[in-house]
Amino acid sequence: MKPAAFDYHRPETVQAVVELLESLDDAELLAGNQSLGIVMANRLATPDHLIDLSGVDSLSGITVTDAAVEIGAMTTHRTIERSDRLAEVLPMLPEAAEQIAGPAVRNKGTIGGSIGEADPAGNYPTALAALGGTLHLRSAEGERTVPVEDYFIAYMFTDLRENEIIEAVSIPREAYPVDRTGMAFVELKRAAQTWPTVSAAGAIRVDDPGESEPTIETARIAMANAADIPLRVPDAEAVLEGEPLSAAALDEVADIVTESVTPEGEMHADREYKAEVAGEYAKRSIRTAHERAIDAADD
Ligand SMILES: Cc1cc2nc3c(=O)[nH]c(=O)nc-3n(C[C@H](O)[C@H](O)[C@H](O)COP(=O)(O)OP(=O)(O)OC[C@H]3O[C@@H](n4cnc5c(N)ncnc54)[C@H](O)[C@@H]3O)c2cc1C
Repeated sequence: MKPAAFDYHRPETVQAVVELLESLDDAELLAGNQSLGIVMANRLATPDHLIDLSGVDSLSGITVTDAAVEIGAMTTHRTIERSDRLAEVLPMLPEAAEQIAGPAVRNKGTIGGSIGEADPAGNYPTALAALGGTLHLRSAEGERTVPVEDYFIAYMFTDLRENEIIEAVSIPREAYPVDRTGMAFVELKRAAQTWPTVSAAGAIRVDDPGESEPTIETARIAMANAADIPLRVPDAEAVLEGEPLSAAALDEVADIVTESVTPEGEMHADREYKAEVAGEYAKRSIRTAHERAIDAADD
């Protein structure tokens, strides 16, 4: 099937984008077209207008300051995957990017498109929920910021208003000093280029990586494809914080995550299996993040 007819617009500034969103009825934003194209080809979406964001240069790029990392909505998965600066300061994001689909999707797909799509299996929504990211949204009325954790409301339903664009995402760096922090994004997949059965994002900050058993100061755990939204699991984080890592704590993390998730069953993975695997992958993400936090002191 082919998409239904639509009018095509290619503005060159964010201001022009939001003015189009304000003035047009039934308009859809187009980013890398890796998801929207499939939906439109199947006529599950038949917008009257497509607003292509590829002409808006200001929406692409990664800015790292001492305080925060900001990533423009049109930054591709490939750019994030290959960013040396991100690998240094927030390595969870390149690790999440490199596991998305295959190179063709990663070359064109964007972080804004992934957040706009709002699939609970998506890599960035979960990584950003773990890292405490904030979304910068703009409409003709002005700008507002929304924490990632408040943005995802229900299955593929978000706080984004019809006349708004996601302009950028930012992540504060204060909680993640590079010499004491480890991060990991781990996935269970049936095949390399498919969506994950379940994924886990884990981050650990320790007090002194030179110690044989450093205390965990901060732990963050979020799960993908394990609920109808990206799911952070604060109860599991609380088990880890204030103590050195132990096998018993890791087992408790796995149990809490398994109890907390509410996954949908799939053809190859029923709910019980996904819940069990979610616990195991949360544990793996934390174990790896902890190893990396200790190694961070040597880098
Ligand atoms: C085979 C395959 C496997 C995949 N596997 C994974 C995976 O494992 N993990 C994963 O995370 N993703 C996966 N994806 C999805 C991939 O990441 C897509 O690139 C992404 O979800 C959509 O990005 P896009 O830039 O192509 O957006 P588009 O397809 O252009 O748009 C998607 C939606 O977002 C909206 N949108 C786009 N930009 C904005 C914006 N700036 N503000 C507001 N709304 C916006 C659009 O209106 C549309 O509704 C997979 C895709 C494919 C085809």
